[in-house]
Amino acid sequence: MKPFPLWSPLLLLIRPDSMLTFSLPPSRAVPALEALVRQRILILDGAMGTQIQALGLSEEDYAGCGCRHHAERPQKGNNDLLILTQPQAIEEIHFRYAMAGADIVETNTFSATTIAQADYGMESAVEDLNREGARIVRRALDRATALDGRPRFVAGAVGPTNRTASISPDVNDPGYRAVSFDDLRMAYGTQVRALIAGGADLILIETIFDTLNAKAAIFACFEAFAEAGRRLPLMISGTITDASGRTLSGQTPTAFWHSVRHARPFTVGLNCALGAAAMRPHLAELAGVADAAICAYPNAGLPNAFGQYDEGPDETAAQVARFAREGLVNVVGGCCGTTPDHVRAIACAVADLPPRTLV
Ligand SMILES: [Zn+2]
Repeated sequence: MKPFPLWSPLLLLIRPDSMLTFSLPPSRAVPALEALVRQRILILDGAMGTQIQALGLSEEDYAGCGCRHHAERPQKGNNDLLILTQPQAIEEIHFRYAMAGADIVETNTFSATTIAQADYGMESAVEDLNREGARIVRRALDRATALDGRPRFVAGAVGPTNRTASISPDVNDPGYRAVSFDDLRMAYGTQVRALIAGGADLILIETIFDTLNAKAAIFACFEAFAEAGRRLPLMISGTITDASGRTLSGQTPTAFWHSVRHARPFTVGLNCALGAAAMRPHLAELAGVADAAICAYPNAGLPNAFGQYDEGPDETAAQVARFAREGLVNVVGGCCGTTPDHVRAIACAVADLPPRTLV
């Protein structure tokens, strides 16, 4: 890599892009992850939603009495807020995933942006949510590592928000956008800076249905890395929404890869929407074009008529093991409907299978 040029402070002001980002020193997690991912298939955790639902929490439990962020609106369903109002319950879920075999555990911050939290009137809580969200995972992982000595990594989870920068939500006005690139960039910037402050080892931009939203998140990461003075590994995960094999904003896996390749991610991959069986051909396409590690974390099959997931741990694990036998994956885990038992079964099923070859 070329030495950092003397005029680089100017770049900080005008070009917080890939050129600057790759001049930054890598964070401690970079060499550790790059070595591990060549040795074996790494395990990512599973769904938070199923575990939180099982707690049967009430409105009072969600809103909490110890939370200094008070909103007028009901908070039941605001799962991210539980980081502040039920921290022990959230830490326990992370701990169970770590003990089930997860090397990388995600923060409970999928909707912790000012944009997504606006639905609950909780925009003021996003910095606390992300900082504490990362700290809670770190605590859970340190407890697990104290028991078995295995290193584990905190992935700061960055969701797509509930708005799309590429598509109009108004059929009568196709030029209308509910959110702009800069709105997203600012919201993601606040989230990512707080995740880094809380100790996130890497950033996982996930469930990408609109690549333009993801590009704003990548740009925000680059800005946050420049401020922090170090480059964290990025995991980028798209979502194929239907049988056409495209994201909601219309990209095939190949197009999606070429749209995010400039970020030089640690992993690129797919999650959510489909079960492992339906995800397989799209994953194979991505693995055929991408020169990054490949990460896949499918749902536990397709949802039934009640929106629930019926696929058991062994069934999901058998499908994910097939990805591994075909040489498609470097990191695997579970999305909607998966549990610590699914992650344990997945970890067990791929334990003796080699990771996809990286060049
Ligand atoms: Zn999902």
